[in-house]
Amino acid sequence: MLETTIAGSLPKPEWLAPPNTLWAPWRLEGRALEEGKRDAVRLALHDQEQAGIDIVTDGEQTRRHFVWGFVEQLDGIDFSKLVTIGIRADRYKASAPTVTGPVRRRGPVHGDEVRWARANTVRPLKLTIPGPMTIVDTIHDGYYGSRERLAMDLAALINEEARELEALGLDVLQLDEPAFNVYMDEVRDWGVAALDRAVEGLRCRTAVHICYGYGIKANTDWKQTLGSEWRQYEQTFPALARSRIGGVSLECAGSHVPIALIGLLGDKDVLVGAIDVATDRIETPGEVAAVIREAMKHVPAARIFPCTNCGMVPLSRAVARAKLGALGAGAALVRRELGR
Ligand code: ZN
Repeated sequence: MLETTIAGSLPKPEWLAPPNTLWAPWRLEGRALEEGKRDAVRLALHDQEQAGIDIVTDGEQTRRHFVWGFVEQLDGIDFSKLVTIGIRADRYKASAPTVTGPVRRRGPVHGDEVRWARANTVRPLKLTIPGPMTIVDTIHDGYYGSRERLAMDLAALINEEARELEALGLDVLQLDEPAFNVYMDEVRDWGVAALDRAVEGLRCRTAVHICYGYGIKANTDWKQTLGSEWRQYEQTFPALARSRIGGVSLECAGSHVPIALIGLLGDKDVLVGAIDVATDRIETPGEVAAVIREAMKHVPAARIFPCTNCGMVPLSRAVARAKLGALGAGAALVRRELGR
């Protein structure tokens, strides 16, 4: 009951990559880099376990960026052809590789990471993979000429990958779709269908993470333009309620999302963001508990998973660890009230 988890990422140790940076370059190379990544995963698992996080992730310690970590392993995407594009409806600029042919997996993408994480924790294990629409929005298409067709091919290969990861003992597959809060028409027309294709036939638990982005300036500026009530979820949640996806991870803490919108999710699991990643201020366990109690007014506790709003990769490790602690302690507070 009220099992805790995180959106996915944690900051990397400073010996592995420069802190407080997205797309940070690696500080090691060759065998030292491979060993450093594995050590960082063990530390990320340890920090989560210490904080009382129930469903743990690898902290995304082995990828430079949550989208690149996946697409770097695909054929049909050329990283020698980097183009600067505006992503998330031009909210910020990113250097994007070019799609030059049909997208295919070159081989397993995250198999080694899941094997390593699985061997280093006994807790339920979650892995994140970028969702089809978010990948489409973070690469430059020079081949398909249709965001939908590219997304459907990506969904098919995500599904192949997911089936292998499930066989390796992965408990929860989460697809990250921040683009779902930006392209509402595309979500309706093909975004949810692509998600459904990506999780087709899986027996492990699944979830989709939809947020308002990392706590970086481009996102906090954008949030200022969204008004006093953020109602993007109101359009997507009914469609997700009818989808195959098992759960939805959303941003609640410190946001202008009306919490009642989670009532639109039907019988889905709800990963309630109770930790704000856009501030270094550490939540108290009482504040976390208050968000959980609010969520319980709209969704039964059995379907609530206290979580972070988004990834914590841009934060310092000390702040991230303290926020993990608040999340674990806040959920424990509510469980005690419920006598569990
Ligand atoms: Zn996020």
